[in-house]
Amino acid sequence: MTVGPDEQPLLFNVAGLLGEPRGSFLDLSFAGATIDLGGDLVLAEPVAGSVRAVRTNRGLVVTGHVSTALADTCGRCLVPVVVPLELDLDEEFLPTLDIATGQPLNRSLEPEVARLTDHHEMDLETPVREAIQLAAPIVPLCRPDCRGLCPLCGADRNLGPHSHPDAALDPRLEALREFQPDTEA
Ligand SMILES: [Zn+2]
Ligand SMILES: [Zn+2]
Repeated sequence: MTVGPDEQPLLFNVAGLLGEPRGSFLDLSFAGATIDLGGDLVLAEPVAGSVRAVRTNRGLVVTGHVSTALADTCGRCLVPVVVPLELDLDEEFLPTLDIATGQPLNRSLEPEVARLTDHHEMDLETPVREAIQLAAPIVPLCRPDCRGLCPLCGADRNLGPHSHPDAALDPRLEALREFQPDTEA
């Protein structure tokens, strides 16, 4: 089994597997992969994983598992957090060229399906990126019961209770505090 060169650990040559009968498979593993996630997402550690590529009558079905972590900030108290991710991959790849004749295949029939490269390489970067983007928490938390920051002074409320001198209160909030519904008519 050959794995991709170190600078592209998510790229695998599967020409040999394509020449084998349906049901043949190849187990592949990778580590140390860094990928650009776009947007605000940043990896805290490289991507590692293992997949099994199974030859089907028309291409490959790839299933497996990926581990990594995101570097993020708590959505409530803003401390840096590392979000571990354990992801499942399940992706079909179709050839770009007919393995026997080398003739280009009609890609327009199923434009949404991932394609092998012209060199019969399988690039897992896109499915791995999409799996990470899908699994990234919208509001990561440093812990499930994070109390967040005080809306008045910005203090971290996880560090314990604190109080304010009255002068520190926003006058608009002060007015609210003095407002008492008249329940005893
Ligand atoms: Zn927090
Ligand atoms: Zn406060």
